[in-house]
Amino acid sequence: MLAAAGGADAAPGGAPYELPSTLTPSKLQRFVSCPLAFRLSYLDRRPEPPTVDQLRGTLVHRALQVLYASGPAAGRRLERARTALEEAFEEPALRGELDQLGLDEAALARLGREAAALVEKYFALEDPTRVHPIGLELDLRARVDGIELRGIIDRLDRLEDGNMVVVDYKTGRAPRPEQSRARLGGVHFYAYLCEQLLGRRPSEVRLLYLRDQVVVVESPTDQSMRGLRQRATAVWTAITRACATGDFRPNPSPLCRSCAFRSSCPAAPATCVGAITR
Ligand code: SF4
Repeated sequence: MLAAAGGADAAPGGAPYELPSTLTPSKLQRFVSCPLAFRLSYLDRRPEPPTVDQLRGTLVHRALQVLYASGPAAGRRLERARTALEEAFEEPALRGELDQLGLDEAALARLGREAAALVEKYFALEDPTRVHPIGLELDLRARVDGIELRGIIDRLDRLEDGNMVVVDYKTGRAPRPEQSRARLGGVHFYAYLCEQLLGRRPSEVRLLYLRDQVVVVESPTDQSMRGLRQRATAVWTAITRACATGDFRPNPSPLCRSCAFRSSCPAAPATCVGAITR
């Protein structure tokens, strides 16, 4: 049983939680934001129904993946991307998530229009016929300091000068300029994985915010790679400790508004309707 907000719950019988097999940017961020949400999601594997925002993002990512995966570069036109998006709506896995949302006809049509608008906006940020991807939805894993780091990169490009660029599509709002560096943690994670596995550090990481048509670019440095490694190690140590003690404290924040567990979380502001048990 979870104690009151801010308290800790022990695993039944004092049994430790099993450590997750990998550390991904999402897991790292989730634990830092709220250890309890991390536990419920990744250790207890509580279901998290998809949201419209998440599904819109997944559909757009899929359309852009197919755009790059099919046919020659010259054919990477808006029409092909639109077709890929329509097909994404029909893919069984995505269809299943759509059904879970239970949208009525009007809401479904709105989702289709919004996703199509994001795909169209993408073309204002890049000319895909001039891009040389060497990896799409690239699943990378590297063992570092005893931790299995894992990341799935939307796109890895090779530039004409031989350098590599990590590209990450974002379908939510772009951060304010002063926050944009903080959002680069995930792509630095990817750059670190590339360096470990491919023996070469990407020269750039790019976040493409389709909705606001903003591109955030940064060059990984020795310092940023060192910082990433230290952060990953520190968070993993904290996760290990939490798993051993069962102490996954809730951390109420504005993120509670979009947390799938808020209706049963005793720490969620104004939405406390019950307690969480393992
Ligand atoms: S509602 Fe807030 S405090 Fe509760 S688990 Fe979710 S993010 Fe954590």
